[in-house]
Amino acid sequence: MNRINKFNKSWTQQILDSSHIGVLVVDKFRNNLFVNSQLCKLFGYKESELLETTARVFHLSDDSFTKFGKEVFNYVLDGEPVEMDYRFRKKDGTVFWGHISGDFIKNNEEVLWIVIDIDQRKKLEFKNAQQAEILSQIHDGIVTTDLEAKITSFNHGAEIVTGYKAYEVIGKSIEMFYDVEDAKTRKQKREILFKEGSLHQELRFIKKDGTYIYTDLSASVLKDSEGKIIGVVSYVQDITQRRLAQEKMEYQSYHDALTGLPNRVLFKEGLVHAIKKAKHNKTILALLFIDLDHFKEINDSLGHQVGDKLLQETTKRLYTVLREQDVLSRLGGDEFGVIIEGLSKAQEASSFAKKILDTLAEPLEIDGNTLYVSSSIGISLYPEDGTTSENLLKFADSAMYKAKNEGRNTFQYYSAEMTEIALERVMMEVSLRRAIKKKEFVVYYQPQVNGRTDKLVGMEALVRWKHPDLGLIPPDKFIPLAESSGLIVELDRLVMREAMLQFKEWYKVGYNPGKLSMNLAVKQLLRGDFFSVLTSLIDEVGCKFINLELEVTETQIMSNPELAIEILKKVSALGIDLAIDDFGTGYSSLSYLKKLPINKLKIDQSFVKDLPNDEEDAGITRAVIALAKSLNLNIIAEGVETVEQKNFIVENGCDNIQGYYYSRPIPALEMEEYLNKANFRKDFLI
Ligand code: C2E
Ligand code: CA
Repeated sequence: MNRINKFNKSWTQQILDSSHIGVLVVDKFRNNLFVNSQLCKLFGYKESELLETTARVFHLSDDSFTKFGKEVFNYVLDGEPVEMDYRFRKKDGTVFWGHISGDFIKNNEEVLWIVIDIDQRKKLEFKNAQQAEILSQIHDGIVTTDLEAKITSFNHGAEIVTGYKAYEVIGKSIEMFYDVEDAKTRKQKREILFKEGSLHQELRFIKKDGTYIYTDLSASVLKDSEGKIIGVVSYVQDITQRRLAQEKMEYQSYHDALTGLPNRVLFKEGLVHAIKKAKHNKTILALLFIDLDHFKEINDSLGHQVGDKLLQETTKRLYTVLREQDVLSRLGGDEFGVIIEGLSKAQEASSFAKKILDTLAEPLEIDGNTLYVSSSIGISLYPEDGTTSENLLKFADSAMYKAKNEGRNTFQYYSAEMTEIALERVMMEVSLRRAIKKKEFVVYYQPQVNGRTDKLVGMEALVRWKHPDLGLIPPDKFIPLAESSGLIVELDRLVMREAMLQFKEWYKVGYNPGKLSMNLAVKQLLRGDFFSVLTSLIDEVGCKFINLELEVTETQIMSNPELAIEILKKVSALGIDLAIDDFGTGYSSLSYLKKLPINKLKIDQSFVKDLPNDEEDAGITRAVIALAKSLNLNIIAEGVETVEQKNFIVENGCDNIQGYYYSRPIPALEMEEYLNKANFRKDFLI
């Protein structure tokens, strides 16, 4: 059949050929009868190729061909022209989307098809649909509003964030989510948004259940194709968890975890504020700096758990005596600060201080321990002492130290005189440093004697500062400073060296000075190099044969008992004796005492002072002697001045005596005279 005859290449065809739409005519067997050049181009065939075949070539498969035929048949039944988007195949096998519309011509004998390439449009549509799907699935909220702030779209994420379903909110004002408080700034924010084109803010949203969430909201204006603003799209992220974590962190950085009290940073802010108020109201403000007495010892000997509970209990007690408006803070360790505002007289602060002292001094039960903890309080005043928070804090702190020096369990005001003392301390430290360099120290020796036989058993080396202007300065005046400044390490090394050299000399010339007892600051002991320094000192002096003993105070050991035990064990292994100094004045625990490699306990002179008449002291002395015996330790009493004291102590089982009764600490030369006395001659000595 010559199909071409039916459609001559008339001017009609020429028009059709120049058209941008594909035209196809098929007969009822779907043989191609006519194709225009656009159709050939669309499918990639030559006209002649198409005219010799059927519409099957346009289909992806036989199935698709059949299906298409069936669909067209259905339309025919409905008497409707056919129109649909369909995926067709080109000659080269590639697939494209075409929009096809067709109708019967010539008494339903033939069908005229018009095919348009909609591949690009279709792909874009798919992409958009996909994006829309992604947007609807996204967990963050995306909300669009019109110019009247009415919600026009509300994705699935927005449903999750707010708890509302889209149908519940579409058409309503976005303001429904805003807090009344925030509403005040809304107008202003909208103006910025429309002016700048976008706005980023953190905003509280009210959820459907009435609770609040914090959101991070980025809004941008929506424009139509002509650039006219038609609404707003908002991207809403629920940042409640992040915000709460942030708030928690902020709280933690301003509060002490143990007591929940404001920390030093917050306290300082409060103080700055309180100063401003006092200035404005012309009232007096007092700053109380409270420090627990001997807290460290309790912490070290009874454990941190007890220490922690003590601090918590202290906080509770402080609250019982303070007014609601007084600001309480834990400034660190066992230090508390209180701001007392609105005073009319400086003296009024003392009644607060007194109340605090009294409440804190009450005995306390913690984990089966009864604790007696006193405190020391320093007070500084605005405007009398200082007008800045730094100064008030500094002055209250130094006043607190003054209270400690006054014997603790007391309070002190800061005063000008106080500053002088502080200054003196600085000067003193400078000259102490210089003195160490210049070796301005001399060692005195105090005999330790067997009270039963009156034989010399040893000597304690005690340092003195030979100040060029002030003369001989006793250790009590500079040892605490040497300890707090760290100078004690060098000082003790100087003393040990000189004393060892002296003992070596005495032994060499034929005296028997007995055991050399030296005081050892724990700062020295706990230094990493202590052990090697000690052994090389012994080597250098060459006094291996000398009987050495180191005295360490109970309180100092308890500052770091584990480490002290470790080092003392090594020292003890060298054959050096260890004595616990000032025994009975600290808080040492028996369990540590057993672990320590000690040889001797030294009964503190404070217990000896009122012997034998003071019953309590007599009891303690007897108890310490009994304890020493039960632990198989030697014992010595210090500060023995009278024969009565000596007799009491000896009768109670402590043979060794040190004190003015036998001799004051004396310089080496004098000691030689002492050693020269007949009954202390070598042959008479042990
Ligand atoms: P301490 O170790 O308790 O020394 C005993 C103190 O009691 C000495 O005071 C001594 O002179 C004094 N004393 C001895 N017998 C009597 C007495 O019968 N009655 C009275 N009232 N006092 C007596 P000193 O020499 O003033 O030393 C004071 C403290 O300084 C010593 O106390 C010791 O802790 C420390 N110290 C002295 N020399 C050194 C040293 O070289 N290094 C270190 N780290 N500390 C030292
Ligand atoms: Ca001592």
